[in-house]
Amino acid sequence: MGTAGKKIVGMDIKKLVSMLNKALADEWLDYYQYWVGSMIVKGPMRPNVEAELREHAEEEFKHAGMLAERIVQLGGTPLLSPYDWKANSGCGYDSPKDPHVLALLKQNIKGERCAIGYYHKMLETVKLGNDPITFNLIRKIMEDEVKHEQDLENLQEDIELIKR
Ligand code: FE
Ligand code: FE
Ligand code: MG
Repeated sequence: MGTAGKKIVGMDIKKLVSMLNKALADEWLDYYQYWVGSMIVKGPMRPNVEAELREHAEEEFKHAGMLAERIVQLGGTPLLSPYDWKANSGCGYDSPKDPHVLALLKQNIKGERCAIGYYHKMLETVKLGNDPITFNLIRKIMEDEVKHEQDLENLQEDIELIKR
């Protein structure tokens, strides 16, 4: 990265890269959890849930790309192996063992809540260092995660209303 571009980061770049790599690991795990969930999902409103899970998978994939681009721009290296994902992950991976719509939604809501918490913490750290580029990147990703949580909660609510 350029000299001036590095100077404005205002925090330890190695630390920043490792935070971004942790987020990158989580985005890949989120991507796969949504993707495989969309393949196996069963139950009421299956097409709606399947489409939502697929859409979120695509968005997590985009987040992974945004994070990796920033890591490279900072002179870092994005995690080079899928074997590194689990070890670097902050939110972990929940295998969707129960394919029922409500079970999948519950698992993914938990994941989104963890992601929102992680990004919020990261935003506070980045704000202190005053790196506007990374700050804006994380803010944009977080906006999507907030929407993801809400979309899943809405589906959960609608499916639970069927029983009434
Ligand atoms: Fe994401
Ligand atoms: Fe998400
Ligand atoms: Mg959505």
